[in-house]
Parts: sequence; structure tokens; C-alpha cells
Amino acid sequence: MHSPHQLSCDALDSVSLPKHDAGGETHAVIPVCPRCDVELFILRFKDVEVDFCHRCRGLWLDAGELEVLLQQTGARTVDPILRSLQQEGTLPSGGKHLCPRCDKPLREISVTQAGAAPLVLDRCPFNHGLWFDADELQELLADFAPESGASKTIGYLNELLGMKNKT
Ligand SMILES: [Zn+2]
Ligand SMILES: [Zn+2]
Repeated sequence: MHSPHQLSCDALDSVSLPKHDAGGETHAVIPVCPRCDVELFILRFKDVEVDFCHRCRGLWLDAGELEVLLQQTGARTVDPILRSLQQEGTLPSGGKHLCPRCDKPLREISVTQAGAAPLVLDRCPFNHGLWFDADELQELLADFAPESGASKTIGYLNELLGMKNKT
């Protein structure tokens, strides 16, 4: 017997993620780095496919992938910072960074936390996802509440990207 309201991380392992967009819409566009204009390649992070630029070490996360990343590393997916990622954003003056999914200019969103400099991220105005420059994802996760367990996600990321060995 198990109670349905106690979904543990184990239960999440059995959730299979859609590998392709549901519906007829497929992305024929080759994803390209918003910064360097070179082709992104896919890194598998557990069940998430993260688009990574080998040149600038930036990362693209499709909408919802950050939450999946957190889930799969045993972190919580409830944090005020996650909500703040949904903001509209403003068009940067340069305006030349394009969404790898739809080629529309990305908007800058500013994530502020108490006692730290705001982190500026790039978000697709059509909610395809978020672009993180090198280390920005780790910086964002470092600002999550300690009890969220996001530090585990940072550990996995650093390992995956070979940025740091365990210290
Ligand atoms: Zn790049
Ligand atoms: Zn887009």
C-alpha cells in the first residue's frame, strides 16, 4: 500500500519524458548558439537533453527542463526564483541573440536575490526556454533556498560539464 500523495523521487524515475514534441510540430531548425552562432550539441543530463555550446560553454534549457533537472537530481521544484523566470523581459539594446528554437530575439530577464547582484538571463519571448551563459545556471541554482537541494543539481552539472572536480 502506498499513499498517492507521497510522490518520492523514486516515483519520478518511472516518468518517461517525451522525446519529441507532441503534436505535429517538429523543429527542423538546427539549434544555434545565441552568442556564437555555432551549432549547439546535445548533452544528455539524466533524462534531459541540454543544448550546449562548446565554444562559449553556454547552455540552452527548453521550457520546463530546469524543473526536470531539479527533480531528477532530487531537488525541489518549488522556489520563488523559478517563478521569477517567467517574467516577460526586455529587449536588450544589442538585440541580436536569437532563440535556438524559433530564431526570435531573446529577451533579458533579471533575477534578483537579496544580497547578490542580479543575474541577467536570456529568455525566449515565446517561452521556448532560457539561455544560460557559462556558469550562469550554477549561479542561479546557488541562489535557491538551501533546503531546496539545488546544490545537488549544481554538483551534477559541474560533473557533466567537466567544469570542476569535487572540491
Ligand atoms: Zn556559444
Ligand atoms: Zn523561441
